[in-house]
Amino acid sequence: MSGLLVVGGGMAGITVAAELRRADVAFTWVEADSRAGGALHRVFNPLFGWPEGGGRSGVELAASIEDSEDCAGLERGCKVASIEATAGGLRVGLERSATAEVTWSVWSRVVLCTGTRPRRWEAPGAAGRWGRGLELSTYGRGAHYAGEAVAVVGGGDAAVEGALRMAAKGCTVWLIVRGPALRASPRFVEALAATPAIEVRFGCEVNEVIAGSQDKLSEVVLSDGERLPVRGLFVRVGVDPVLPSITPAPALDARGYLRVDHTGLSSMAGLYGAGEVTSAEVSQLREVTEQALRVARAICSGA
Ligand SMILES: Cc1cc2nc3c(=O)[nH]c(=O)nc-3n(C[C@H](O)[C@H](O)[C@H](O)COP(=O)(O)OP(=O)(O)OC[C@H]3O[C@@H](n4cnc5c(N)ncnc54)[C@H](O)[C@@H]3O)c2cc1C
Repeated sequence: MSGLLVVGGGMAGITVAAELRRADVAFTWVEADSRAGGALHRVFNPLFGWPEGGGRSGVELAASIEDSEDCAGLERGCKVASIEATAGGLRVGLERSATAEVTWSVWSRVVLCTGTRPRRWEAPGAAGRWGRGLELSTYGRGAHYAGEAVAVVGGGDAAVEGALRMAAKGCTVWLIVRGPALRASPRFVEALAATPAIEVRFGCEVNEVIAGSQDKLSEVVLSDGERLPVRGLFVRVGVDPVLPSITPAPALDARGYLRVDHTGLSSMAGLYGAGEVTSAEVSQLREVTEQALRVARAICSGA
């Protein structure tokens, strides 16, 4: 049986790895992607509430981490496909992207630092429209819709930030919020109030997406029957936790996050969680790194 396996090369995994190294605890560390950094690759603005970033964006921070000592020993392109609890320990299937082969090994402890991914969203008419009127990233795809009418779905930071970005590109913007209020941080809410090009529709959902003549939309239909003549619809409706297949299923919270105690231990012996995968409340770098450090210290003290 092998010892300790750390899964994920985002900030949680990097924090856990650094502490294990400092305490001289041996571990193996894998990352499914071909690069470290995880969600940082989706952060194009200067990181807020993270002075350690020195005013850099997440993308810039990830680039600086990639070749640094922080990632020493990280095997990229190696995904944990499944975990099974057995009498002898945690049996883990590791899939390497280079060969697509799955190899099996048994570990006494596994720390899942597997983060979250943007939530999937479907509405009638949406199938097949991704990249053709239906978009996730205002940063990557916003320029394609400059000066046009667009809608953004969601009420959190990512949605409001996206609406502001599109308004700055000369767009008329509708922000479609399912609930009665925004969940975004005050700094975004204040900026929104000062941007007349953005109109907010509360208590609404997009019921249908209508295709346009080329690679854009002609309109979207809201749940209250209103039709908005938009060329693009940006979907920013939150994230879901990322977990490999685990047997038997460990305890999850109501939103599907891995339930862990204050040491990061899940309901399955030997299975730990660190970072965003453990709770919707752990969603910023400060919380991610503090929680991950606590988990690593608990593991070191029992090592
Ligand atoms: C658009 C956006 C803007 C943000 N802005 C800010 C900000 O201004 N300030 C701030 O403090 N925070 C911000 N955040 C949040 C911050 O980036 C995250 O909280 C943090 O990066 C999450 O780290 P993590 O390690 O928990 O998860 P992740 O970064 O998601 O890392 C998880 C890693 O695990 C890997 N993985 C997943 N499954 C497997 C598997 N089965 N096998 C192997 N590897 C696997 C993934 O490929 C990924 O690399 C922002 C996030 C986003 C998306």
